[in-house]
Amino acid sequence: MALIVQKYGGSSVADAEKVKRVAKHIVGNKRKNNELVVVVSAPGEMTDDLLDMAKKITDNRSDREIDMLLSTGEQVSIALLAMAIHEQGEQAISFTGHQVGIVTDTTHTKAKIISINEKKVFNALEKGNIVIIAGFQGVDEHNDITTLGRGGSDTTAVALAAVLKADLCEIYTDVDGVYTADPRIVPNAQKIDTISYDEMLEMASLGAKVMQSRSIEFAKKYDVDVQVRSSFNTNTIGTLITKEVLSMEKVVVRGVTCEMDEAKLSLIGVPDRPGVAAKIFTSLAKVNVGVDMIVQSTGEDGINTISFTVNKSDLKKTMEILNKVAIEIEAKKILADEHIAKISIVGVGMRSHCGIAASMFEALALNKINIDMISTSEIKLSCIVEDLRAHEAVRILHDRFNLADIK
Ligand code: ASP
Ligand code: MG
Repeated sequence: MALIVQKYGGSSVADAEKVKRVAKHIVGNKRKNNELVVVVSAPGEMTDDLLDMAKKITDNRSDREIDMLLSTGEQVSIALLAMAIHEQGEQAISFTGHQVGIVTDTTHTKAKIISINEKKVFNALEKGNIVIIAGFQGVDEHNDITTLGRGGSDTTAVALAAVLKADLCEIYTDVDGVYTADPRIVPNAQKIDTISYDEMLEMASLGAKVMQSRSIEFAKKYDVDVQVRSSFNTNTIGTLITKEVLSMEKVVVRGVTCEMDEAKLSLIGVPDRPGVAAKIFTSLAKVNVGVDMIVQSTGEDGINTISFTVNKSDLKKTMEILNKVAIEIEAKKILADEHIAKISIVGVGMRSHCGIAASMFEALALNKINIDMISTSEIKLSCIVEDLRAHEAVRILHDRFNLADIK
C-alpha cells in the first residue's frame, strides 16, 4: 500500500462537474489499494474574486481579515469534494488547516509553515478515509487564520508529503508538466520527464509558473519527490521534480525562460566613490523594492553608470526614490526603460560544460539581437534584450541548445 498526497489546483475544481471528475479519479486511486491525502485550492478564480470584493470595500485592508476572507475559498472546495467522494461510495473527511494543526508563523498573507499535527491525518486514514485538506491556510500561535501566499496550496501539499513521509506527492494542474520553454512561444517545446529541484527553482522564479517557488524549496529541503501532472489528461505522467543525480549534468541546458515584467533603470554620471551603491540600494530596500540584475560600468574619468532592473509594478516607486537619491549622490541623469525582457537558460549541466555563455551570446549576435545586460549563476545565464524580440530570442536559444530533441 502506498501513501500518496495529491493536490488539485483551482481550475481542476472550478465547477460541480469538475469536482465530480476529480472525485472519480481519487476514488480510482484509492481502489488501487492506496492511502490518499488530498489537498485542494479554492474553486476557479474564487480567490481573485474575494480579493476584488475586498478592494471595493477598502484601500486599507487588514492582512488578518484578508486571510480570514481568502481561506474560505479552500473550505468550499474541500466540503464539495468530500461530498462528491461520498456519492461514489467511498469514505472521505475534510479538514481545514486549523483542524489538522497546520501551524504557521504570524506573517499574514505570506505565512510559513512551522509544524503539522500528522496524528490527526493518520487517525483519519486508519479509519479508512480519504483525507481532504484545505490548501494555502494554517493558523498562527494566536489561533488566527493565516495564508501561505498566492499559489500556497502547492506548499501545503509538499509539506504534508514531508511530514507524513508519503511515497509520492502529485500536483495536478492545468498544464501537463514542465516544458523546455513556454509552448505558446516555442511550438516544438518538449515536456521534461525529470528535472532537479534547483533547475525547477530557477525556472519557477524566472517565470515558468507551474508551481509556487516556496513549495519547491520545501521539497528540496525534505527530499520530497514531486510529480506535476495534468488534471484534465490523467493518462500522461507529467514531470518528476527530484534530487539531482550525476547523469542530469549530461543535459547542458534544460530550459529557456522569458520574463516580460521587469524594467531597467540607469543612473548616469555617478561619481566613483565608496557608499554610492549602498545609498541607492538601501533607499530602495527601505521601501521594499526588490532589485534583480545590477551592472556597474566604470568610465575613464572616475564616473560610473549604475544600471539595474526592478519589477515593472515598482517602477513608479523606484523613480520617486531615485529622483531624491540622484541629488544626494550627485548623479547626472536617470534613465528608465520599460521595453526590456529577460531571457534565461537554465541547466545543472552548465556547471560542468564550458562555452555555454559564448554559445548563447553568439546565437543572439547572429540574429542581430542586442544584449543589454547579463547576469549569471552556477546553473543559469540571463540576458536583457529588447522586449519586441524576446520571443524570437527564446526560439533561437531553444534551437541553439537542441531542446526540441531533449527529453
Ligand atoms: N487559492 C489560492 C490562490 O489562488 C491558493 C492556491 O491556489 O494554491 O492563490
Ligand atoms: Mg488558485
